[in-house]
Amino acid sequence: MPVTVLERARVGAAASGASAAGVRVMGRDSTERALALESLRRWPDLDRELEGETGYRRGGGLRVAIDERAWYAAPEWVAEQRADGVPVELVDESAARALVPGIAPACVGGVYCAIDGQAAAVPTVHAFANAARRLGARIEEGIGARALEVEQGRVVAVVRTDGGRTPCDVAIVAAGAWSGLLLGPLGIDLPLRVRALQMLLSDPAPMALAPVVGCFDRGLSLKQLGDGAYLIGGGWPARIADEAANRYVIEETSVRGSLDVARAVYPPLEDATLAQSWAGLEAFTPDELPLLGPVSGIDGLFVAAGFSGHGFALAPAVGDVLARLALGRDARRDLWSGLHADRKSRAKPRA
Ligand SMILES: Cc1cc2nc3c(=O)[nH]c(=O)nc-3n(C[C@H](O)[C@H](O)[C@H](O)COP(=O)(O)OP(=O)(O)OC[C@H]3O[C@@H](n4cnc5c(N)ncnc54)[C@H](O)[C@@H]3O)c2cc1C
Repeated sequence: MPVTVLERARVGAAASGASAAGVRVMGRDSTERALALESLRRWPDLDRELEGETGYRRGGGLRVAIDERAWYAAPEWVAEQRADGVPVELVDESAARALVPGIAPACVGGVYCAIDGQAAAVPTVHAFANAARRLGARIEEGIGARALEVEQGRVVAVVRTDGGRTPCDVAIVAAGAWSGLLLGPLGIDLPLRVRALQMLLSDPAPMALAPVVGCFDRGLSLKQLGDGAYLIGGGWPARIADEAANRYVIEETSVRGSLDVARAVYPPLEDATLAQSWAGLEAFTPDELPLLGPVSGIDGLFVAAGFSGHGFALAPAVGDVLARLALGRDARRDLWSGLHADRKSRAKPRA
């Protein structure tokens, strides 16, 4: 089946290129655990499979508790995930300190997941794109999909922003924060809300941190990259300046808030200087779980959107599911049974 990818800007121009590229299963909602576990099964072999370099490293993930309330709740959190086969384990304060020397004195323990890890966002996106090209996909950058043509309940073509029209048997809408714009005119209202998520990068520092570090009840995802730079995220917002044009403004309050949390949890960051900040626009669903699979009522049309800040790690399994759907093969529905695009996505309950 010939495949054309229309990318209105360039590959990796939005969330995927901006991503923190954490590759984790720990802490995921039970509905997407199977998909995450399947993805994590594939990540260690991805460089070979793609004949590229994703920068993937399985250094584990540690979510620390820095107060008694979080520590008290941790065993139940662990048990619930272990029941689904997620290999998380409770670690006491000294074990947490052994995993992350330099962790805050306030740390009372944590939860460790040995199969969590990290990749490098932009190299990963290019590794996927290059592999697709090698296998015959035509990736057209700088050309967007303007509209989908549907005849008698079946998708028949994509109208392009260069004035062309690409006939098709199957169309997959995976346009990130802008996916709803393509489906809206067909009467399909995806429950998506766009947020800009901020990332901070420090200057390189001596290597000290193997796992990705998070913290209960605090907005933190902290990792050290191959060159020693610290990458700090955790859901801190940037301001969207122009949603259609993928433009944002980094806000000083968010930078400060993110740095304060990161330094409180991992004091060695006091010595690190901030080198760069950026953000990525990401579509969130009310339940913060992706919308995946066929679009009801239109044959040949599929969607993968609304990854809600944690879709990067899922890419290997999501790509596989979409390819199977497109080819009419066994789509491994057991992996994504609760993620159907036409489900009622209800607001995520807050802890
Ligand atoms: C700052 C940040 C940190 C994150 N950290 C993590 C993390 O640590 N771990 C994790 O698992 N996930 C993380 N995520 C989430 C993850 O990056 C996203 O869920 C994932 O990258 C979404 O991929 P996507 O392909 O759906 O969307 P995108 O990567 O946004 O790609 C959509 C593409 O569609 C293009 N496009 C839009 N409209 C059109 C059109 N009409 N025609 C053609 N092309 C179009 C855009 O230019 C864009 O390149 C993070 C996200 C952000 C923003």
